[in-house]
Amino acid sequence: MPFSLHGIGVSRGYAIGRTYLLQRNQPEITEYTIPDSIIEDEVERFLNGLALARRQLREVRGRIPIAIPGDAAAFIDTHLLMLEDAALTEAPVDLIRVHKCNAEWALKTQRDFLVRVFEEMDDPYLRTRKDDVDHVVRRVQRILATDDPAYLNDPDYAELIASRLEGRIIVADDLTPADTILMQHQGVLAFVTEYGGPLSHTAILARSLGIPAVVGARNARAYLGNDEPVIVDGRQGVILVGLDERILRYYRHKQHEERRQQRELNKLKDKPAITGDGVTIGLYANIELPEDAAAVREVVADGIGLYRTEFLFMNRSEPPDEEEHLASYLHVIKTLEGSPITIRTADLGADKQVDGGRSGPVSTNPALGLRAIRMCLKDLGMFRPQLRAILRASAHGPVRMMIPMLSAIQEVFQVLRLVAETKQELRDRGLAFDESLPVGGMIEIPAAAVCADQFARYLDFLSIGTNDLIQYSLAIDRVDDEVNYLYDPLHPGVLMLIWNTIRAGRKAGIPVSLCGEMAGDPRYTRLLLGLGLTQFSMHPSNLLEVKRAIQGSEVGALGKIARRLLRTTDAEEYAETLKTIAQN
Ligand code: PEP
Ligand code: MG
Repeated sequence: MPFSLHGIGVSRGYAIGRTYLLQRNQPEITEYTIPDSIIEDEVERFLNGLALARRQLREVRGRIPIAIPGDAAAFIDTHLLMLEDAALTEAPVDLIRVHKCNAEWALKTQRDFLVRVFEEMDDPYLRTRKDDVDHVVRRVQRILATDDPAYLNDPDYAELIASRLEGRIIVADDLTPADTILMQHQGVLAFVTEYGGPLSHTAILARSLGIPAVVGARNARAYLGNDEPVIVDGRQGVILVGLDERILRYYRHKQHEERRQQRELNKLKDKPAITGDGVTIGLYANIELPEDAAAVREVVADGIGLYRTEFLFMNRSEPPDEEEHLASYLHVIKTLEGSPITIRTADLGADKQVDGGRSGPVSTNPALGLRAIRMCLKDLGMFRPQLRAILRASAHGPVRMMIPMLSAIQEVFQVLRLVAETKQELRDRGLAFDESLPVGGMIEIPAAAVCADQFARYLDFLSIGTNDLIQYSLAIDRVDDEVNYLYDPLHPGVLMLIWNTIRAGRKAGIPVSLCGEMAGDPRYTRLLLGLGLTQFSMHPSNLLEVKRAIQGSEVGALGKIARRLLRTTDAEEYAETLKTIAQN
């Protein structure tokens, strides 16, 4: 009897194959008292467990094939750093000594504390980083659970190597970056996990590795048998079970078609993004980690339109210093070989503590609280090193600086003053920088979009952050599933704000780009062209599809229809006009 399971499609592509159910039982953790005389032995047992976990991860890191993008190593490094951080090395030891409890219990207590801290974070990416805590802690718990003191082999690794995974579809509760790497090594066809979201490591790695993946498929292991033939649709987030020949034929055809299309898209890599009527469009990429820059080169983007530097701040107890910022930026500059790079200053929020242990008051409405540029202007001790590093990086390549979440023009003045001061500081230190470093701002707050003319007067470029712009203009929390259905990029109010920002930039003679998710969705490409957009910035994996939508479109005609769209007050005509644009 055919049926389907649903999750979130996070890495597109179809896989047809047999399941491999990964059942990893976590040891039951109970608390027991350790007699005073052997407390230090317990501490030592814990520290040995940590040391072994580190050795195992280094071993996995050494197995990453060279051809795999930088994400993989970066994720393993993150776990290694966590295993060296005081939050996991010292805090549990204190707990063992103070509470005279066993190592497993101390680790569990500290894990619960850290997970709570991450869960309170506003940023969806940082919130999913609680998975890292879990992955690392689980590894140590499994080591502590074994009786064999000489136990040196990684049990996960041993299981993965022993089981032939080639051509299999992995179904698991959750996968660590280490699992994902080892499995890729073995030629798995797809991943299905019961937990995780689009920003989980499995999702990010699967996309980088080009392996179809569905995450958040609740209870998948309860419904699927081992070695069962299934189809995974990584775009729609569907797992089909109970296949008959007709379904198989249909999906083989789709798989074939998808591969053919990908080959066609790959041919566009070296072609310019020019519309049918000769308008050249800039296609830029969004990155989160310095290692992502390799994927940008792979799709031959015009540069980086959004480098989300807040990822530098994650999983650590202190914010990065100037040299660390600089090293990351230089890595990106070197990889991009002369293409422009837009470095966005930290988009951290009030509840995104840079020091995981120091919890200040949590705002009741963090999206409207002390985040992004507001937080940077309040915490200059954190902001200044980043400003210095961006300026110093500008001596090595075409760098632009971008300010997130501007609401008041005074924020621009403050930043420009700080930039001027920083330049003087660098001159005094005899350090090189680009005297005319372009400083731009993100338009993601409706009030800023309405008076974009003001911002365009003082800034060198604007970039529209539709993820937040939609959130704020439609009053929809972008991370709240309950109101997701109202999240509508095509709402006339949203399009008016986008159009007004583009118009303001054109009037002031400065470039305007759009770097929210909308820019990477080919369904919106022609509409955005019609609204006058000439620069798009998106995840590198979307770039070629957007380029295809650009080629063959007629900006002149699209502009006329878009103006009609913005004028109409008739909902039916609005919907019809949108359709016309999509087909034009
Ligand atoms: C946006 O808000 O559209 C944007 C690009 O920034 P982020 O998603 O990082 O908030
Ligand atoms: Mg934003």
